[in-house]
Amino acid sequence: MDFLQPTSWDEALAAKAERPEALPIAGGTDVMVELNFDAHRPDALLDLTRVPELAQWAAENGRIRLGAGISYTRVIDELGDRLPGLAMAARTVGSPQIRNRGTVGGNLGAASPAGDCHPPLLATGAEVEVASVRGARTIPAADFYTGVKRNALAPDELIAAILIPPAAGPQQFSKIGTRNAMVIAVASFCIALDPVGRTVGTGIGSAAPTPRRAAAAELFLAGALDEDGLWESRADLPAAMVREFGEKVKAAADPIDDVRGTAAYRRHGLAVMARRTLTWAWNSYQNSASPGGRPPGTPRGG
Ligand SMILES: Cc1cc2nc3c(=O)[nH]c(=O)nc-3n(C[C@H](O)[C@H](O)[C@H](O)COP(=O)(O)OP(=O)(O)OC[C@H]3O[C@@H](n4cnc5c(N)ncnc54)[C@H](O)[C@@H]3O)c2cc1C
Repeated sequence: MDFLQPTSWDEALAAKAERPEALPIAGGTDVMVELNFDAHRPDALLDLTRVPELAQWAAENGRIRLGAGISYTRVIDELGDRLPGLAMAARTVGSPQIRNRGTVGGNLGAASPAGDCHPPLLATGAEVEVASVRGARTIPAADFYTGVKRNALAPDELIAAILIPPAAGPQQFSKIGTRNAMVIAVASFCIALDPVGRTVGTGIGSAAPTPRRAAAAELFLAGALDEDGLWESRADLPAAMVREFGEKVKAAADPIDDVRGTAAYRRHGLAVMARRTLTWAWNSYQNSASPGGRPPGTPRGG
């Protein structure tokens, strides 16, 4: 097996153009498992760990541009305030060793329906920046996942970065597993509230062939919050609204029965997680400082 080791982004793209069959390796926490089990024997590995550009993040044009090679530990330590949904998901990944090695770009490269980065990337409207010697393009996260463990990358492309809007409001992530750590999600869910844009974002994990948004649930909740003046009043959410949101999230899933859980359990779990994460996010919205100076909980017009 050839081992290609570029030391710059340009070199990495040139190597991928010359050897499109070369398998990129970042943290190796997916790739090495596959090699060790002999599930996959690529002709060449393209080691990306010496490409400095992939290990950097910056605020650019109102978004965080997160280099594909940034580890979960760094997301948690350096960006927990700006990307709370992604950081919450990152805290649930594997163990400290996996969080130190594993990268957000690697999670996207693997494109497992159970990958923990996907729900927050979907809920926040993130985009994936990919590149080849032919040029760069951005792909909305919602279009990046094309099937079970398949993504929209062309053979000569690499993931450069993930472009994520910093949180405009509360975000929450929840994951069901058979234990609290070192567990692949049975189902997961992320919600992102944007009180400024008055939008609701969602992301469902491990409950369909690909990670996906619950678009009808997003529209329903954003409309209901608007109609009842709840963004302004920050009053408690009507129980029926929370319940309906949960049902709409559940309806967006298309899970299967497998070794980790049944489709019925996943659907049920998603409705519960949707209700809980919405309630947690709304509680934190109620307790946060009001942008217009209106004290939290004051009824509209009051
Ligand atoms: C013990 C253990 C526990 C785990 N727990 C979790 C968990 O709780 N949640 C979870 O989501 N995952 C978990 N994983 C899976 C894995 O850690 C994650 O998917 C991680 O994000 C992979 O990142 P990596 O950098 O190690 O990727 P790698 O293994 O290096 O690569 C993964 C895939 O992405 C491709 N790739 C990597 N970088 C790029 C790039 N820049 N451009 C194009 N393709 C690229 C590779 O070719 C490969 O196909 C676990 C793995 C192990 C071994």
